[in-house]
Amino acid sequence: MAEVVIVGAGPAGSACALWLARAGVAVTVVERQRFPRRKVCGEYLCAGAIAELDALDVGHVVRRDARVLRGVRLVPSGAGPLELAFAARSLACERAVLDAHLLTAARDAGAVLLRAQAEDLAFESDRTSGVIVRDEHGERRTIPARFVVGADGSGSLVARKLGLMHAERGVRRFAVGGHYRGLGTLDHHVEMHVGSGAYVALNPLDDERANVMVVIRERELRSWSGAIDAGMSTLCSRLTRNERTLADAHRIGPRVSIGPLAFSVNGATHGGALLVGDAAGFLDPFTGQGVLLALRGARAAAEAIGHALARPAEERAAMARYGASRERDFRVRRRVGRLVDLLVDVPFLARRSSVRFRHRPELAATLLDALGGIIAPERALAPGFMARLLL
Ligand SMILES: Cc1cc2nc3c(=O)[nH]c(=O)nc-3n(C[C@H](O)[C@H](O)[C@H](O)COP(=O)(O)OP(=O)(O)OC[C@H]3O[C@@H](n4cnc5c(N)ncnc54)[C@H](O)[C@@H]3O)c2cc1C
Repeated sequence: MAEVVIVGAGPAGSACALWLARAGVAVTVVERQRFPRRKVCGEYLCAGAIAELDALDVGHVVRRDARVLRGVRLVPSGAGPLELAFAARSLACERAVLDAHLLTAARDAGAVLLRAQAEDLAFESDRTSGVIVRDEHGERRTIPARFVVGADGSGSLVARKLGLMHAERGVRRFAVGGHYRGLGTLDHHVEMHVGSGAYVALNPLDDERANVMVVIRERELRSWSGAIDAGMSTLCSRLTRNERTLADAHRIGPRVSIGPLAFSVNGATHGGALLVGDAAGFLDPFTGQGVLLALRGARAAAEAIGHALARPAEERAAMARYGASRERDFRVRRRVGRLVDLLVDVPFLARRSSVRFRHRPELAATLLDALGGIIAPERALAPGFMARLLL
């Protein structure tokens, strides 16, 4: 019997499986998709995420298949473009590649992969006792386990079955994107163009291809009436002031989409089960902190499970520590994300912060380092930092 069953083989699930397998824990990963697979993502890897990959001993293979990014070119609402340099190495890496490397490493370390759709959880009293899956042959069965990890991403089945998930109120937003050829040179820079509640992110995957991702309100998406490529093209031209036009480019491979984006959970643990990565709550993708949070959460979840397996009497304390650290990380990163939203979306703040970032590059460096996991994210929320940025 597996000691741990993990639902989902994204960065959170595979990293957690890898940590556990290396510690000698019997772990099974349930994944419904065949890898390599596309995932809706800007495909930017911050320095903190790369450090986590190095800790997992996967960094070197990921680097081989990734491209170094020098910085971000930000075009906020109602202000001129701003180039901010990354202090520490950041990468553009296709998720099909990153996720496949992580899953391969987890399997090499002894994790078992089960290609199946998780449909429900099994319970004994109030505690999860396994995952009910439907496998590739249509057979429904229960995979018993002492611990269940929900690493099944946005809209997590595990979070729903534990009764932990709730939808967020407010504007519903969707992301649509794909890989394109012919967008012109991005010169190793991620480009973010923002305006009227929408944004487009361009990430250079190599000299020819770029990841293009637009995030828009549901109302605007509906107004496209199904003509998604045309809608994306018009939005891209509008937000980039015709600097980047999809009309001159062509999409390679499938268009990908996801939404509504936001949802929340009430806690990341529940009787023998833990949530990691997006399953434990969704951050606005604008700041590119998702993979970092998924990898750090995976490590913390594996530590908590390892501790609980070795000392069952201390399970409750280990789970509580994991839940509290996840909640703290998520809350602070979400606040920094909201600060950035205001700085790029409110024209007055965008103009003021642009001027400050230009004259005091150390302020931009602090913000990028906080988002990228190099320094504590709290540093970007400190009153002194805010005052130097805005007053
Ligand atoms: C538009 C957009 C752009 C983003 N850009 C960036 C970026 O540039 N950089 C960054 O760091 N983050 C970015 N993110 C966030 C990042 O994509 C996520 O935080 C990250 O993928 C979370 O990893 P995960 O392992 O938790 O979930 P996922 O990567 O979503 O993996 C979940 C896995 O679970 C599987 N699964 C789901 N349900 C089941 C089931 N019932 N049974 C079996 N398997 C199941 C899925 O097939 C999937 O493989 C972006 C997100 C969005 C939406």
